[in-house]
Amino acid sequence: MTKLNETDIVAKVRKFLAENLIPLEEEFLLNGFLSVSEVLEEKRQLAKKEGLWTPYLPESDGGLGLSLTQFAAVSEELGRTPLGHYVLNCQAPDIGNIELVSLHGTADQKRVFLEPLIRGEIRSCFAMTEPENPGSNPVLLDTSAEKDGDNYLINGQKWFTSSADGASFTVVMAVTNPQSESKYGRASMILVPMDASGLEIVENTPVMGGTGEGYASHSELRFTDCRVPSDNLLGPEGEGFRLAQERLGPGRIHHCMRWIGICERAFDLMCRHASRRRITSDSLLADQAIVRAWVAESRAEINSARLMVLDAAEKVERQGTSGARAEISLIKFYVADILQKVLDRAIQALGALGVTDYTPLAYWYRHERAARIYDGPDEVHKLSAAKQILKKYDSE
Ligand SMILES: Cc1cc2nc3c(=O)[nH]c(=O)nc-3n(C[C@H](O)[C@H](O)[C@H](O)COP(=O)(O)OP(=O)(O)OC[C@H]3O[C@@H](n4cnc5c(N)ncnc54)[C@H](O)[C@@H]3O)c2cc1C
Repeated sequence: MTKLNETDIVAKVRKFLAENLIPLEEEFLLNGFLSVSEVLEEKRQLAKKEGLWTPYLPESDGGLGLSLTQFAAVSEELGRTPLGHYVLNCQAPDIGNIELVSLHGTADQKRVFLEPLIRGEIRSCFAMTEPENPGSNPVLLDTSAEKDGDNYLINGQKWFTSSADGASFTVVMAVTNPQSESKYGRASMILVPMDASGLEIVENTPVMGGTGEGYASHSELRFTDCRVPSDNLLGPEGEGFRLAQERLGPGRIHHCMRWIGICERAFDLMCRHASRRRITSDSLLADQAIVRAWVAESRAEINSARLMVLDAAEKVERQGTSGARAEISLIKFYVADILQKVLDRAIQALGALGVTDYTPLAYWYRHERAARIYDGPDEVHKLSAAKQILKKYDSE
C-alpha cells in the first residue's frame, strides 16, 4: 500500500467520520454509549481495514508511525465527534496506558495486557484519584499495596476512574514504600485485572446529570484485600510518580488536540446556524455585530490554541516531556479555557437548539467543563508554568 502523508490521512479521517460516525452521534447522545457499542465495534473493524487504526503507534505495532505533531492534526480531526478517538483506538485512558505498558512493561505484561489493548479487544482504565485526598497533589494517597509472599494486597478507594465500566484491567497507583524519604518515592503502579477478587466497582459516579455507561463513564472503585501477583508491578517499585509524569505529559497534549477538534466543530455549528437563521424579516443572525465578534474572537482563539499546542508538541519531540513542562502546563489551562468559551458562544448562537441533545454541543458543555479540572486543575498548571518560567530569573 502507498504510504499516505499527513494531509491525506486527515482527509481520509474526515471522510471516515462523515460517513460512519457523525450519523451515529444522535443515537449516542440520546440513548447512551451501550446503544451504539455494537455498531461502533463494526466501525472499529472498518477503521482497521481502511488503515486508520492506532495512527500514533509505530508501524511495527500496527500504527501509522505518526510523530506527535503529525498526530495533532489527526487527533484534532477525530475530536470533531465524541466517537472519533474511540473508533480509531486513540482514546484516553487507553492511549496513555498503551504508552505506559509499551515503555515499562515486561514481556509477559505486554503479552497479557498491551497486545489485546492495541488490537482493541479489551479496554483499560487508570485509578489514581481518591475521594478523600486531593487529586491535585497525588503524593497524598491512602491506597496501599503491601507485599504478601509473591503477591500484593491492595486496599483503598479510588474514584473518577474513567471508563472502568467494561474495562479488563486498571493501572492502580498505590503506596508500596511508605517509608521512602522522598514523597515522590512512595507509590507504585500495579496492573490489576478488573475481575481480581477484592476489586469492585462501587458505582458509576453521577456527572452533570447522568452516570453514563461503558466507555463513557467514571467509576468509583473499592479495593479490599485485592490480591495480585507481584509480577504485575509496572516499572520499578516506588517509581509510580515518575511513570505518572511520563504518562500525563503526552496525555495533556492529546487532550488539548482533541479540544481543538471540539472547538472547530462548535465553530462550524455556530457559523452555519448563524448564516441561515433569520432573526428579522431582512436579516440573519450572522449579520449582527455581536455574532460577528463571537466568530472573530473564536477564530483567533482557536488558531492561537492550535499554534501553542503544536509548539508544545514540537518541544516534546525535541526535548522530551520534562523539557516542555512549562509549555504543557500553559496549553493545559489555556486551551481548556478557550474550549469553554467557544462552546458557550456556539450554544448561545444556536439558542434553544444549543441546549438540546440534537447536536453534540450540550454533551461537550456538560462533560468538558471538567477539562479545567482533570489531569491537573487550572490553578496547579498556572503555578507550575510560572515556577518553570521564573526559574531562569532566579540566578540573575
Ligand atoms: C471527568 C473526570 C475524569 C477523570 N478521570 C480520571 C481518571 O481516569 N483517573 C484518575 O485517577 N483521576 C481522574 N480524574 C480525577 C482528576 O484528575 C482530579 O479531579 C484532579 O486531579 C483534581 O483533583 P480533585 O478533584 O481531588 O480536586 P482537589 O485536589 O481537591 O482540588 C480542588 C480544587 O482546588 C483548587 N486547587 C487545587 N490545588 C490548588 C493549588 N495548589 N492552588 C490553588 N488552587 C488549587 C482547584 O481549583 C481544584 O479544582 C478525573 C476527573 C474528572 C472530573
